[in-house]
Amino acid sequence: MQTQLVARILATIKTAVALMPVSPETLQRLKYPQAALQVSVPVRMDNGTLEVFNGYRVRYNDILGPTKGGVRFHPTVTLDEVTALSLWMTLKCALVGLPYGGGKGGVCVDTKTLSQLELERLSRSYMTQIADFIGPQQDILAPDMYTSAKIMGWMADTYTKIKGEHCPAILTGKPISLGGSLGRDNATGKGAFYCIKELEKIHHWNPKKKTVAIQGFGNGGQNIAKFLHKAGYKVVAVSDSQGGIYSPKGLDIPTLIKTKHTTRCLQTPQSKQSGRTTKNITNEELLTLPVDILIPAALEDQITATNAPNVAASWIVEIANGPVTDAADEILTKAGTKILPDILANAGGVIVSYCEWLQNNTGDRWSAASVDSKLKETITTAFHRTYQLASKHQVSFRTAAYIAALQRIDEAVTTLSPQHTSMK
Ligand code: GLU
Repeated sequence: MQTQLVARILATIKTAVALMPVSPETLQRLKYPQAALQVSVPVRMDNGTLEVFNGYRVRYNDILGPTKGGVRFHPTVTLDEVTALSLWMTLKCALVGLPYGGGKGGVCVDTKTLSQLELERLSRSYMTQIADFIGPQQDILAPDMYTSAKIMGWMADTYTKIKGEHCPAILTGKPISLGGSLGRDNATGKGAFYCIKELEKIHHWNPKKKTVAIQGFGNGGQNIAKFLHKAGYKVVAVSDSQGGIYSPKGLDIPTLIKTKHTTRCLQTPQSKQSGRTTKNITNEELLTLPVDILIPAALEDQITATNAPNVAASWIVEIANGPVTDAADEILTKAGTKILPDILANAGGVIVSYCEWLQNNTGDRWSAASVDSKLKETITTAFHRTYQLASKHQVSFRTAAYIAALQRIDEAVTTLSPQHTSMK
């Protein structure tokens, strides 16, 4: 199986290994997923009928440890997408130095059409179908798009019932009362924020003079907006799947988050927000606004060869996985746009997932401050390693991040190979 998205990641791997060769065995091992499971997810609907959804779980590579990665509930989920996301997880965990391989799961479903009870039955049914394929030392789940802490709680409860014993380490991102970790809820946004703070130091930015546009107002998008707003950055535009709003003077982010929670919508008919004039815009318009930092925090393939020439931002920070296509990447890089790649910028979630898993395995409870300092230290180290490799090889941050990730995987692969001589 080697389809479009996976082929795209393998092409970036090829670019990286042209500069920093790895053993042919490493490339062989990364060519295909180790194991992929496709399941039917039957759900009894509220009206008594039965619906069956397509579900997947892919364990891409576990050379560095148990495979780790989220579960996505979205109508565009396919096996190709889940496989690509599991390869990205493999590289992400390697880059930030976690003892994990990469995995991912998903169900092709539009959760907006489900009642709470239907969503619960779906979550439990999915877990029932994949329970024998995963394990706390084998493959560990987490939230992703449209899967909340509550959903993780239902899944963990189902796993406990199936196995007949408590096993909180089977998944991360749980509610605190069910063994979740402090700081996991906003970890993805916080990780991206720490990367931006490092850029701020290196480039001597004045946050008040930096404008930001954020595409996607889910967990990652809302939290990065909140942290940047609090740090003085001018967040001028945000959007969700229905469209966005823009105010050149900056948006009142805390109020917008409240509005989104109560009305499930960002756009205001009055075109006013806290006394500021705002303009309703489309997602497409948001991507080409005249801002300093553009943060795609929604789906893959948002910035393409078609709209890339119109992107005005000097920096793109990828909170979504794979939001910039290869062709767009080339156009942007030539134009001098700098991109902090997904496997670095959105790694905060899995870093704090690791903290949660450690707590579950030891029965320990960490303070919010301990979790935060582990997150900051881990992501900042990976940021500087990427930055250093980018300057050393004169390559993009994406290529540099791939080099760093592949080096780590390669070390493990070569240690296992018969030619390895470190015990001489
Ligand atoms: N879904 C998140 C990601 O793509 C988090 C994964 C995790 O915590 O395991 O990184």
